[in-house]
Amino acid sequence: MFEKVLIANRGEIALRIQRACRELGIKTVAVHSEADRAAKYVRLADESVCIGPAASALSYLNIPAIVSAAEVTGAEAIHPGYGFLAENADFAERVERSGFVFIGPRADTIRLMGSKISAKDAMEKAGVPVVPGSGGAIGDDPATLLETANVIGFPVIIKASAGGGGRGMRIVHEPLELANAVAMTRGEAKAAFGDDTVYMEKFLGEPRHIEIQVMADEHGNAVFLGERDCSMQRRHQKVIEEAPAPGIPAAVRNRIGERCAEACRQIGYRGAGTFEFLYENGEFYFIEMNTRIQVEHPVTEAITGIDLVQEQLRVAAGEKLSVTQKDIKLRGHAIECRINAEDPFTFVPSPGQVTQFHTPGGPGIRVDSHMYQNCVVPPYYDSLIAKIIAHGDTRAQALARMRIALSEMVVEGIRTNIPLHQELLVDANFVAGGTSIHYLEQKLARERGRGH
Ligand code: ADP
Repeated sequence: MFEKVLIANRGEIALRIQRACRELGIKTVAVHSEADRAAKYVRLADESVCIGPAASALSYLNIPAIVSAAEVTGAEAIHPGYGFLAENADFAERVERSGFVFIGPRADTIRLMGSKISAKDAMEKAGVPVVPGSGGAIGDDPATLLETANVIGFPVIIKASAGGGGRGMRIVHEPLELANAVAMTRGEAKAAFGDDTVYMEKFLGEPRHIEIQVMADEHGNAVFLGERDCSMQRRHQKVIEEAPAPGIPAAVRNRIGERCAEACRQIGYRGAGTFEFLYENGEFYFIEMNTRIQVEHPVTEAITGIDLVQEQLRVAAGEKLSVTQKDIKLRGHAIECRINAEDPFTFVPSPGQVTQFHTPGGPGIRVDSHMYQNCVVPPYYDSLIAKIIAHGDTRAQALARMRIALSEMVVEGIRTNIPLHQELLVDANFVAGGTSIHYLEQKLARERGRGH
């Protein structure tokens, strides 16, 4: 096992990774921007290095500064967390070329999955069901575009191959809009991702977002750890996640999970990964793979009892997975609420000083947060300040525990979306389970155009 790991991230995930390292007896190096000097994970780390000013481009995305921090502190491996450089193949390559272990898949795997076209293609070849589509990049010729769309069937969605973060997508309902939509998406893709490759796929009307967690080692072992339902989204950003997904029979889970594990074996996948699917009328349609730990990983940890970050560290150190498929048993139900520093009605970010901070507790409650009383939420980064995870024997018990936890949580000085979560936790359709990816936005729109 490693003796020292550098954590190239900030916020709650930096603290989460640090805790996993400490439990395994690994020393930690925190890297931070000038704005995060007083952060909890910086104080708790064995060592810390300031890597630049507040702006992410100059600090958390500053590859030379991060690599030299690893050099001066003698770290052996770098954990990228999520966001920032976590899915940057050039970073992974640079880390490994500089003689450090990148805690994640190989750079070529990240590159393969970073292009949605090549990812879909690789997954289709590996037997994973994908959304029907153009089967590759599309051109600009209106007649050919129309032919492709007619084969797929309207409505279709035009997507940037290099897209991410819910950007670079456009729904097309009728033939007349097609050529223009392709041109617009191409222009946006070029501007946002520096790559104007776009493709077409069937637009699914009322799907759920269901994803499969996998873990693979370098000895040819790959397992799946059940699924998560992340359908409660606003602007393609997840708000609540849960595991297992309501209403998915064990046989269906095992069939799709085994396909994903098999795909990992086929492409020689290493580390933690997530296969994201849209799920409609009992069918799974692959949309993309995330080659990193995800924000919502704790719900899977709650129902499997497996520490996914420790498993990532083991795999990166060349060890075998600590579990085989038959050891993985799902127990109960877990729900995660993402607590953001934002106005619960307008969704405008609300950075500033946190004057009071109390976290909930009790049976089945876990809180992952880097906040403390009088800390400051800087305006430069994403607004996630805490995750509450409630675990119960049943979904009803997890929901009840989450309601109590939300009522106990105190955050003062800044606004948070806790009131929104409290509304959702008593929403009859959410409580029933199985709402689609459009549910939250439709609900907000019904309530006087809220959040638009
Ligand atoms: P990103 O990498 O930007 O997150 P994804 O491909 O994961 O892009 O898609 C993000 C979201 O866009 C999905 O969760 C879903 O809400 C919507 N979406 C993407 N593709 C489709 C599709 N074919 N049909 C309907 N909705 C889609």
